[in-house]
Amino acid sequence: MRSDPPSVEGSIPDRSTIESLVRARWGRSPVELVRLPGENLNLLARFDGGEQAIVKISTDRDARPELEQAVVDVLDAAGLPVPTTMAAEDGGTVVPSTLEGVPATVRMQRLLPGAGWRDRPTSPALARRIGGVVAEVHAALRGFDHPLADRSHAWDVATADDHRRSIGLVRDPARRRAVESILQEHVAIVRPGLASCPGGCLHGDLNDENILVDGETVVGIVDFGDVLRGSLVQDLGITLAYAIQHGTTPNLELAAQVLAGYEASRRLEPSEREILFPLVRSRLASSALVGATRRVEDDAHSTWFSHEETTWRAIEGLASMSPADGARALGIGDDRGPSVDALVSRRRAVAGSNLSISYESPLHIVRGRGPYLHDSDGRPFLDLVNNVCHVGHCHPRVVEAAGRQAARLNTNTRYLHESFLDYADRLAALLPDPIDTVFLVNSGSEANELALRLARAATGARDVLVIDGAYHGNTGRCVDMSPYKFDGLGGSGRPDWVHVVPSPDRYRGLVRGDGDDVGAAYALELATVVGEACAAGRSIAGFFAEPILSCGGQVPLPRGYLGAAFDHVRRAGGVCIADEVQVGFGRVGDAFWGFELDAADGLDPVVPDIVVMGKPIGNGHPMGAVATTRAIADAFANGMEFFSTFGGNPVSCEIGMAVLDVIEDEGLQERARSTGTRLLEGLHRLEERHEIVGDVRGRGLFLGFELVRDRTTLEPADAEATALVNAMRERGVLLSTDGPLHNVIKIKPPLVVDEGDVDMTLRLLDDVLAGLG
Ligand code: PMP
Repeated sequence: MRSDPPSVEGSIPDRSTIESLVRARWGRSPVELVRLPGENLNLLARFDGGEQAIVKISTDRDARPELEQAVVDVLDAAGLPVPTTMAAEDGGTVVPSTLEGVPATVRMQRLLPGAGWRDRPTSPALARRIGGVVAEVHAALRGFDHPLADRSHAWDVATADDHRRSIGLVRDPARRRAVESILQEHVAIVRPGLASCPGGCLHGDLNDENILVDGETVVGIVDFGDVLRGSLVQDLGITLAYAIQHGTTPNLELAAQVLAGYEASRRLEPSEREILFPLVRSRLASSALVGATRRVEDDAHSTWFSHEETTWRAIEGLASMSPADGARALGIGDDRGPSVDALVSRRRAVAGSNLSISYESPLHIVRGRGPYLHDSDGRPFLDLVNNVCHVGHCHPRVVEAAGRQAARLNTNTRYLHESFLDYADRLAALLPDPIDTVFLVNSGSEANELALRLARAATGARDVLVIDGAYHGNTGRCVDMSPYKFDGLGGSGRPDWVHVVPSPDRYRGLVRGDGDDVGAAYALELATVVGEACAAGRSIAGFFAEPILSCGGQVPLPRGYLGAAFDHVRRAGGVCIADEVQVGFGRVGDAFWGFELDAADGLDPVVPDIVVMGKPIGNGHPMGAVATTRAIADAFANGMEFFSTFGGNPVSCEIGMAVLDVIEDEGLQERARSTGTRLLEGLHRLEERHEIVGDVRGRGLFLGFELVRDRTTLEPADAEATALVNAMRERGVLLSTDGPLHNVIKIKPPLVVDEGDVDMTLRLLDDVLAGLG
């Protein structure tokens, strides 16, 4: 009984109609008929001689009285105190009827003694007894099933995240933030965790009004209207969510007693312990959001939701607790691990000081799943920056492939092995002709190093062109080819064999705007640089280009730029290298590779001579690859052996293959397109609402937005960008800044983020941007 309708009169069928129905079917005349508080239409009937019964009327299309009856019968047979049914004169228990033209069912049940546990002082002994009764319900229902139990409903805690759509109705920002965080926890911890918890038929709503007590005894379990199949721990989580509301601050001690009582009969499994506290919060949040929705539907009634105030108080009281804190408070947690400060000092002592740590308050991440990372306190963080774990953190198929092959054999490419051949064939098949030859290495940097050697071998030239702001890797030559590094702090400037072409940034670059000629204009800028280099007696071996600039500030290349630039480079004798380390493997949505975007947009296909792959290729396993034409590979084979100890080993190849399988089988390229479009559109709406958002850009799930203090001068809002990233981290979303002016927020999540993750991100960004002013 979660809500009290505003008016008893008027909201129920005429009393005389009910009276005559009871008379006709049960052959008895009630002397009094009183509506009981609650969502359901239950009436207390008094008969001559003082006998009392409950008349239960249901007009709800989702009501499943047969299911309720079956569960009550099972619990009754097990000796549990449930309201047994009084059969009608014809022997029927669920009597179909029509009340005021609406189809209904009517039942009559014996009245149980006692009163809801809600308003009773609850001793620890009673709390344990209540927990014991929940376990007894589960024991009695073991092995019971019913076809109608296959359902969900608004109160199904397993689907609490469905209520996310109502979060906007919560006006108080602190409360809004609290329920947002709880439902994020639900998605990251509860939803995936429930699947591995023991299941069965559940009561579905063992709250403190549905468990009747008398003194220290449980004398009744009522309201079987929410019975459903699910995980047993859901029932317990609901009971604890109400125990917590007994008192002015969250009563975790009482909840711990209820849990102890449950565990005295049935010990929880580790999977259940892990999700129990988050599940308690899920119930609180979904109750609060159902209440908020009902208020909108009809604000005139202050008591739509009987536990409203205590629920919010519990939500707020628990808001600062991590899942690990919560588990400890319930008596099922582990000891605290090392503090973040201790880990930071150990790291300072052993690692170089330019090994940076993200965020003002560093994260100690101990686990990943899907698009979520979990810290050592069990807090989930939506990872919107990790394009390495492309198909989701710790994807089971990738983990399985790694384990299977590691347990069998790991060697190198000096032996014949099908894994290398199958994988190289598979990669080659994803690339356009004439790219058909594959080298496997261990990182993006190693791949770019190799690409440079290939380009030099193929052309006999030494120099390269790179785009301003680009980063191509951490090795000596890669740093030399990275303006992001050599022009940055500690950099030693541009080497003479490297030529930097302007960033084709249509927002703050040399040529601005959306015009169709912007790409060609920037390609001409490149031609000018090539001309100057050649005039100075240099010759060009190759041009390294990312199809969307990453460190350069999440800058998509203007239409037609890449093809026109490649033409200029080839005319100067150079080869063209697409660095797909950041954007490849379906991330851009409309194409598998970034260099294919122009073709996807209807322009002529652009075909590089060399394609460099890294990051997502192994979903976190260190791998890199270079694919090129047979002619370039032949030019490189000048007698010197090419060997990378780990490159192309069978474990890496099996992992690479599993990644490609998952991208294909889970339709991740298409997901990147649809989820990315939703996110991009949402960011454009934020751009309209918040002056500080100067530009929004990107493709698929490789997006960025730029913060400026002034939309005319484009003064970069770098401090604000950092503040935004830290504020989002505090709200459980990982983002990061990038770009030469450190004012671009980059977004490049694992491709498995879903619409719920996207919508949450947009709501949180809206709040945080409003705070930045
Ligand atoms: N190319 C690009 C475009 C990159 O962003 C990076 C890494 N951020 C690299 C190459 C180097 O890859 P790795 O760190 O795997 O060596």
